[in-house]
Amino acid sequence: MPIKDPELLAIFEKRVIQKKVCRNCGALNPISAVKCRRCRSTNLRPKSAGIAKK
Ligand SMILES: [Zn+2]
Repeated sequence: MPIKDPELLAIFEKRVIQKKVCRNCGALNPISAVKCRRCRSTNLRPKSAGIAKK
């Protein structure tokens, strides 16, 4: 699904990148998550934010 609008693209990337990844099971959680929604582990790391910078 190609997105041509740069503003939409920025919002889209922001929403996709602002996630936390569980180190235990690899599930994606919201950036505001404290516990993993799948295994309830608190061992979360933010997904790499380096992609957002272009
Ligand atoms: Zn997990």
